[in-house]
Amino acid sequence: MSHSRHTSVTDMQQDMYFGTEVVNRVSFLREDTEFITQSLFHPSTRFIFYHDQKPLIHKNFTNKLTILTNGSKQLSIDSMGKGKIGFTGEHAVVESGLLDSVDNWKSVLTTWNSDNKTQASDLRASNKPVFLFLGLLDESVGLDLHTLKFDDSDQEKFLDHQGRYQGIAYYAVDLTNSPELTNSIVTFVNDYINHHYTKGVVNTPEENGVFFTHSRKHYLGFENREASLFSQGAMFFSWLDKNKFCPGCGHPVIPIHAGGKLYCTNTGTEKDAEGQDKFTCSVKSAPVANVSFPRTDMVIITTIANRDSTKILLSLSKRYAFSKMYSCTAGFMEPSETVEVATKREIWEETGVNCSEINIIMTQPWPFPSNLMIGCMGIVDFNGENEQIHLGHDNELSDARWFDIDFVRQLVYPSKDEDEDFNPEGIMLPMPESIAFQLIKLVVDEATNKHKL
Ligand SMILES: [Zn+2]
Repeated sequence: MSHSRHTSVTDMQQDMYFGTEVVNRVSFLREDTEFITQSLFHPSTRFIFYHDQKPLIHKNFTNKLTILTNGSKQLSIDSMGKGKIGFTGEHAVVESGLLDSVDNWKSVLTTWNSDNKTQASDLRASNKPVFLFLGLLDESVGLDLHTLKFDDSDQEKFLDHQGRYQGIAYYAVDLTNSPELTNSIVTFVNDYINHHYTKGVVNTPEENGVFFTHSRKHYLGFENREASLFSQGAMFFSWLDKNKFCPGCGHPVIPIHAGGKLYCTNTGTEKDAEGQDKFTCSVKSAPVANVSFPRTDMVIITTIANRDSTKILLSLSKRYAFSKMYSCTAGFMEPSETVEVATKREIWEETGVNCSEINIIMTQPWPFPSNLMIGCMGIVDFNGENEQIHLGHDNELSDARWFDIDFVRQLVYPSKDEDEDFNPEGIMLPMPESIAFQLIKLVVDEATNKHKL
């Protein structure tokens, strides 16, 4: 994440934490069982792991998300700019992959592949991990395939499907139902670290920082692309975990299309008015059933400034009152509301302020559990009434205040030379990985440009 001055909106959009484009999702290939079979067993294929929606990390490395390869001697991928991705540790070649190192990995792949192909009703029974195809790391997202042809070994370095889809496939795996496999994967990663990094000392997984975690300290330490891979898997698995039964008939549902769609296992049929067989389940017989696909909850989040950008309105929620973290106004959108109307409503309900103009700036996926933050900028025309703060409507805030932009600038761009007394209350801004911080920074930068400071 860049904290340099005056980053453009386009840069912010491309670098958005949890929202960087890492893989080409090729979503139409999820239901192509030939492609899924080919990619699932390919040596170059990468896997990331979850337990109760917590990602498996190895926290003592620059890259914290554990990403394992199927085959041994796969290249780590470092041709995409800063930071490496797709391996454990600092090596250029991944010495040992899952197929050679984890007993039963091949039979686990074989079982899931067959269940996925036949849409088996026990696809997510106990002791069966749930797989999710995330996409292909390919040239459309910046991979240079030529860098993967570095030696003359006969092992394939990337997947080539029909000469048309070439790259490295990524899967997420939910191990929650599979204690033995969970143990094997954690042991494999820990043994690798003990072998290469602990100078002969045999550490436990905890001692080496190998565990499943849902601590902000860890997932906010991800490099941008790791954060986005984590986010994609976390949001899909959250949806799959919450949806075990069909809303149409109550029968169990299973994830088909490599984890991308839920399917009702009720096979019952009945005759319709024309005497044709149709499914008794209303979801299965409906022409469009959006309950079969993942949902995203829209949240609007807004920075609010006056027309000449000398003041910015920040609010302190009751939840964060102890930390003095002042942030943007935010709230869930309601059915049949435009982003602009929802934004004006939230600002008035929370702060009492009347906003004159709303502009949509950028968005951020927020995987806790499945939000899309829609980042806006609101402008208030001061007239003695519009800017008046009133916290009594919905009573969600502990405080809201118009701050001088110069004060907020010092919080966005802290300087060692700064007079330490400029912030006697210890007011803080949200973390830089959040769209809230990025929006506040944007208002500060625009004010700087406007006033030519
Ligand atoms: Zn059903």
